[in-house]
Amino acid sequence: MKDIFTSQRQKNPKEEWYVSERPEFRIISDEQFEKAQQIKEKNAKQYCQREKRSNKHLFSNLIKCNSCGFSYRRYQKQYSPNRPPKVWWTCSKRSSYGSGRCDSEYIRIDEDWLKSALNTLFKSLLDDRESFFTLVETRCNSIIKEYIRNTSGIVLEEVENRLDELKQERERLKTLAVKALITMDEAEHDMIPINEEIEKLSFRLNETNKTREITQKIKASIQAFLNTFSAFDFSGNITNEELKKVVKEIRVVSKNEIYVYFNIAEDIEGLNFPINISDVVEIDTDSNNRAQRCT
Ligand SMILES: [Zn+2]
Repeated sequence: MKDIFTSQRQKNPKEEWYVSERPEFRIISDEQFEKAQQIKEKNAKQYCQREKRSNKHLFSNLIKCNSCGFSYRRYQKQYSPNRPPKVWWTCSKRSSYGSGRCDSEYIRIDEDWLKSALNTLFKSLLDDRESFFTLVETRCNSIIKEYIRNTSGIVLEEVENRLDELKQERERLKTLAVKALITMDEAEHDMIPINEEIEKLSFRLNETNKTREITQKIKASIQAFLNTFSAFDFSGNITNEELKKVVKEIRVVSKNEIYVYFNIAEDIEGLNFPINISDVVEIDTDSNNRAQRCT
């Protein structure tokens, strides 16, 4: 614990750990533990490869279960030789390990329904592109504002000049000590506040540069997204890769809450806001209707 008053913690390197053996708490043998680690590693590798590889279908790796975080999996069944097969997507964890492993209700999304729902959603956003683009820009600006708030009031030149001054002062003290005009202790004592201020100013300078970088990055990402989105044509035969350029994720919370996250900026939190499909597309729960998504 770094600070007992705030309970702030820090991670120490392994060499500095104090390890206390408590054999009475053991529940498995070393062999069992090692074996479990091997299995765990093997499974993780397999799972990774599967996740990476799967771009086979239009929605591969795009639909996520909100309850367990696993991707939805595609199922296909030919009910009659004269009719096209029925294709749907459902939580892969729930379907592989049973309902006990995922808390979500059973949700089955008809692929054709989702395609047409997305098509409608995209069309409606493009028809009213002014408001959509304004919405994206407003989000973007509020994120930029937040970054700037932390570094506001900084005049770059002033900070840089002050840093130069402080560094010169530090050099002067060093020279005095070397020439034995002051003692080493005196020099060290006088350097404490100087070093503190240098550290503080360097930190702020660094933050300001970061803000500038992030602001540029956000603006570039948003422009790129708006261009891609305007040119996107959902009516054609699009691939998983093409769809992923525009859609980051489709998150299924419940039958009535299926959220689309657009791929606006890869790693900037807050910019990828969700849009609920059911705000745009009417939900059809009639079980006789082929376009239904849930059964
Ligand atoms: Zn799930």
